[in-house]
Order: sequence, then C-alpha cells, then structure tokens
Amino acid sequence: MTALPVLFVSHGAPTFVLEPGRAGATLTALGRSLPKPAAILVVSAHWETDRPTVSAATQPTTIHDFYGFPPALYQMRYPAPGAPALATRVQAALVAAGIEADIDPRRGLDHGAWVPLTLIWPDADIPVTQLSVQPDAGAAHHYAVGQALAALAEAGVMIVASGSVTHNLREFRMQPEDAGVEPYITEFRDWLRARIEAHDDAAVVAYREQAPHAVRAHPTEEHFLPLHVALGAAADGATHRRIHDSVTFGVIGMDAYLLAAERLPAVAG
Ligand code: ZN
Repeated sequence: MTALPVLFVSHGAPTFVLEPGRAGATLTALGRSLPKPAAILVVSAHWETDRPTVSAATQPTTIHDFYGFPPALYQMRYPAPGAPALATRVQAALVAAGIEADIDPRRGLDHGAWVPLTLIWPDADIPVTQLSVQPDAGAAHHYAVGQALAALAEAGVMIVASGSVTHNLREFRMQPEDAGVEPYITEFRDWLRARIEAHDDAAVVAYREQAPHAVRAHPTEEHFLPLHVALGAAADGATHRRIHDSVTFGVIGMDAYLLAAERLPAVAG
C-alpha cells in the first residue's frame, strides 16, 4: 500500500464549499494528483470531546453544524461510506500509545470534514471517519495523538487535519480574498510556515509562547490543534510544504500544508 502524505487544510467559513476561490482550487487539484487513499481519517476542529473519539458509523450522516447560511448549503450531502474498521485501528493505536480513546458509533461528518472533502474528493466514494479534538488538552497532547497515528499514513490512510491557520472570529469582516489583511495575520502565518518547513515541530507545539500574536490569532485553540495532530503523524516525513496561502475575511488564513510531501512526487517538486 502506498504511503501517503499528511494534509492540513484551513476550512474557512462553511460557504467555502460554494465559493472555493483560490484555496478551493488548490484542494481540488490536489485531490486529482493524489493516489486514491484506502480510507480517510479527518481530524476536525468542529468535534470537541474530553478524550480522543473516533466515529465508527457505517454510513455517516452529513451534519449541518452552522446557522444562518444560504439554503443551498443545507441541501449538500457527502454520502461517503464510513470506515468502522479504520476507527477500530485508530482507537487501538491510541491506546497502544497510552492515550485513552473512545469510539462513537453514530457521529456523522461535520462541516470541518465534509466541506474540504467535497472539494478534494467530490465523488465521495472513499470510506471516511473522523477523530475529535480536545480543546483544553493543548498542543503537545495533539502532537502525541498524531505520532500514535503515523503508521496509518504509511499504510495508505489519508490523514486530513481540518482547522484554520488563524481563527479570530471576533475580527471577522467582509473582505474580498486577500484584501484588507491584518499585518499580524501575515506575521503569524510567516512564522508558522518557516517553522513547519524547517521541521521545527517543537516550536509549533510551543506556539502559544513562541509565535508572534499567537493568542490573538487563536483566542481559542480548537482550530489550530488539528495541525499538531498532522505534524505528529508526519514527524518522519522529509519534506513539509505549504501548498496554499491566502486570507479570507481579513483575518481567516486559508493556508494548506502537505506534510511528508515526498510521498507524492507529482506535487512535491
Ligand atoms: Zn471551522
């Protein structure tokens, strides 16, 4: 089975799937260039639990976990089959690493999962399951979760971590793509790119102390913690690369990272 890179995506607002812009075009192109995964594990910022939990639904529902958006968004479905066998492997890998983990037999796909999945794999024919985040557990915990899952990516499972490189909704405002970008957003994202591409995972784990404007960029951590899972899962990778950078709404970074990108020669150059 082909080893696959690990992907981190910023999923933006739910309307990202209707107005994909440059970021969405990057994800769609990526999907076309990837070997077809055996299964997909999405780490979603929109599923918060006290301890890591994996969905084992055989046919996950599409969860419309947002309010006040266009009707077309509520009619969208992502009908991919579930991946209960993968869920069991994820739980076992976490427990083997000393991390207690639960199975949820009913949880569907929230928009942190189905919005990027619709852009990357529109055919919805690859089995998919979700893993939750623990917003109060911090970056080191999520990095350890990722390390425990590294063998999955080596075995043909596509790990897709879905959050946002910056996520301060209090500063959200209507702006065209890449217009009116707050300087601190650029500074934080530049810092992050340099650390990730230099494999300085320790700095990214310690971002709240080390990154410029970290707390302003992430007043709460849930949208950043999937990135730490991705970094842990790709810790043995040779080449980490930012494959997209843009900003929507002035403050929402849409950056995407392909970690262990050398496993995908077509886009690694
Ligand atoms: Zn979100």
